[in-house]
Amino acid sequence: MNRSDLTFYFLGKKYGYNLRKMVEFVNENQYWDNKDIEEYQTEKMIQLIHHAYNNTIYYKEVLDKLALKPKDFQSLADLKMLPIIGKADIRDRWKDLVATDYQKYRPMHRVTSGTTGQTFQYYNDSKSWALNWATKMRTFSWGGYTFGKDKIATLKGGSMLRKAKQSYKSRFWKYLNNYYDLPVINLTNESMEEYYNEIISNKIKYLRGFPTAVYAFAKYIYETHGTLPFKATFTSAEYLQDFQREQIIKTFGTNHIDAYGCGDGMGGANQCDKTAGYHVNIETSILEVINEQGGYCDAGEQGEIVLTSLHDYAMPLIRYTPGDVAVVGKGHCSCGRTLPLLKKIVGRTSDLIYLPNGRILNGIAIPFADWVDKIDKFQIWHTEIDKIELKVIPKPTLTQKDIEYMHEIMAYHLGEGIGIKVDIVDDIPLLPNGKFKYVISKVDNIGK
Ligand SMILES: [Zn+2]
Repeated sequence: MNRSDLTFYFLGKKYGYNLRKMVEFVNENQYWDNKDIEEYQTEKMIQLIHHAYNNTIYYKEVLDKLALKPKDFQSLADLKMLPIIGKADIRDRWKDLVATDYQKYRPMHRVTSGTTGQTFQYYNDSKSWALNWATKMRTFSWGGYTFGKDKIATLKGGSMLRKAKQSYKSRFWKYLNNYYDLPVINLTNESMEEYYNEIISNKIKYLRGFPTAVYAFAKYIYETHGTLPFKATFTSAEYLQDFQREQIIKTFGTNHIDAYGCGDGMGGANQCDKTAGYHVNIETSILEVINEQGGYCDAGEQGEIVLTSLHDYAMPLIRYTPGDVAVVGKGHCSCGRTLPLLKKIVGRTSDLIYLPNGRILNGIAIPFADWVDKIDKFQIWHTEIDKIELKVIPKPTLTQKDIEYMHEIMAYHLGEGIGIKVDIVDDIPLLPNGKFKYVISKVDNIGK
């Protein structure tokens, strides 16, 4: 038994599934044709709707109101008969969404971390979790990384503090996974220098983390040491900006693979080494991209992601919108994998600011990211319904004139009647989970 086998063995024991088999299954699926995908998803969808109707108060109510029965769902297009549900629906009705037989599925209880403070709870079936994990392993393998065998450095947020005492158990898992954790909560030049040395002395060839952290690390190394070659680098969990991607590739000289994932809806889409878009995970959920009229988006069109998690029975989520926006892709990737493509992940609807003058501002679209030689970081705060604050960490080149110009740009994008404040700050803290957010809203728009 080699090291990778050992890791799979223990993980399988922990979660009760043969994860090696699941990885083999998803590796096969990446070459399925449209007909195979449709058949698989249709079968899972029909089973799920029967289950949800028979075992949850919520879906019984929804179908009865529409005078529908589970047998009315025969093809994927029939899914459109059901309404789209959002975070607010889950928050308000979560008890009615939990299936009467939920314990059977060995569910894992989760709580989302809302950026505006609103959270909701949900369950993931162990099986759903395991299959989702297998799709992640598939994505890593696209970068040449073998789980358990290869060392990987992880720029990690959250409570994983470096000096904190680690339990025997957590050290054991880290050993098995061959992980080297590099905490990002205090990403200073000193800590980055330490990580740089640690990566070199341990001959680590793979790196993963949140885009802002991997970018900051890439920038630091580029400025101090030039380059640091990796076999592959991976980002996930935040929106990856083009300038971040360019810097990462410049410093690490690697194909960079970005992943979009949504644990509450079990949706995922991932770039490959050809990076021509994001390959959709077809086995964990049905991923629809819906336009403002409620129809399916065509190739090249932008819309909201709607997910139906196919293996979550403890708390079924059918046509759930996590608030992410994507552009639909066309055809197949040159890598030969036949998974459907998203051309681009555009951001989250939580990055949208709804103003009382009727304008909707996309925080990510504000061109401040182009000012990489003037500012280090920026963050937009929607503090009151008609007030916007722009926090900026300056570079030495930033002048008073630039600040005035920033004011003008903001006024142009925001329109009439909105108070604007530009705040020059020393630091913009990360969220408690270590992620960076471009837009922080203190105004409740969870129902949007
Ligand atoms: Zn590809």
